[in-house]
Amino acid sequence: MTGVAVGVSLDATGCTVLAKRLDSHAAADPVRLPHGLEGTTWPDAVLETTGRLIGELGEAATHLAAIGVAVPVAVDPRSGRPGSLPPWWPGDLDPAAVLSARLPEVCGPDAPRVLLDRASTLGALAEHIHCFRRAPLVVFVDVSRHVSAGIRTSDRIERGAHGRAGAVGHLVVRPDGRPCWCGNRGCLETYLNIDLMLADARRATRAPHASLAEVAGAAAGGDRSCRRILREGGELLGQALGAVCTVLNPSVIVVGGEVARAGGLFLNPCRAEMDRFTPDAAEVVASTLDDAPATGAMMLGITGHSWLTREARRGTPVTRDTRLESAHGRGGDHA
Ligand SMILES: [Zn+2]
Repeated sequence: MTGVAVGVSLDATGCTVLAKRLDSHAAADPVRLPHGLEGTTWPDAVLETTGRLIGELGEAATHLAAIGVAVPVAVDPRSGRPGSLPPWWPGDLDPAAVLSARLPEVCGPDAPRVLLDRASTLGALAEHIHCFRRAPLVVFVDVSRHVSAGIRTSDRIERGAHGRAGAVGHLVVRPDGRPCWCGNRGCLETYLNIDLMLADARRATRAPHASLAEVAGAAAGGDRSCRRILREGGELLGQALGAVCTVLNPSVIVVGGEVARAGGLFLNPCRAEMDRFTPDAAEVVASTLDDAPATGAMMLGITGHSWLTREARRGTPVTRDTRLESAHGRGGDHA
């Protein structure tokens, strides 16, 4: 296989674009852009960056061979479309369809199909293949504006009946607690998400912290408020991961998203609390990949056809082809 593969991770406030040559290990530096799903500029930003990175790798833009996209919401396994929608998701949006329609503007009429899957699912795929290939069960937890987990066994992704397996953010950590957009109360992500942690840090320190990396830096420098925020966040995640361990008994849990950069200040309280909540605590580590969901999205683009065909046989189709088949009644009653 020749040409360049691209992986894109889209979240509410930004996106990450990765690109690598398929005939060597050459890869462009990861690009993080302040264009997310809350706005309308992300397609232009992703397309421009895709063309630019392919050029940096010495190829014409028409030599894009594969592209995958990670999105921070569940993907309906029947339709391949983003399914369960948090309130900030901008309506009936399918980023794969948006990019597929516009990719020929940059990469010509033979541009590849854009494949899409949930960020945490693709993160689990990437961590399993790149870092924990021998592990029988890997859970990747994405902690950002929401909290979501991808579950990867030695040979398949576990999605659940409706594609919503791994909704760790909706485990109840405070019965009768804060109302959640899902309709329940006291869900983990009403207490643990990046927006809340940053707001808490700004309020407590009166400093304009713009990222969790800044909060982690202040905590490492001894700021007690920032240390508390990371500790409490880690403890909350640890409670939820205790339940995950008890139910799934994973070999390793990889924590991704901005909180991963806080290291032990977040993960040590997480581990300690998890130990209190389960007799089968897994190893908990921070992701070491540049961007695990974007890496997984690139792998989805590269291996998509064979991998997804295999997944489709197991009843979890996410290809656009399969979606078309389903629309024409040939997709079967996947459950
Ligand atoms: Zn909820």
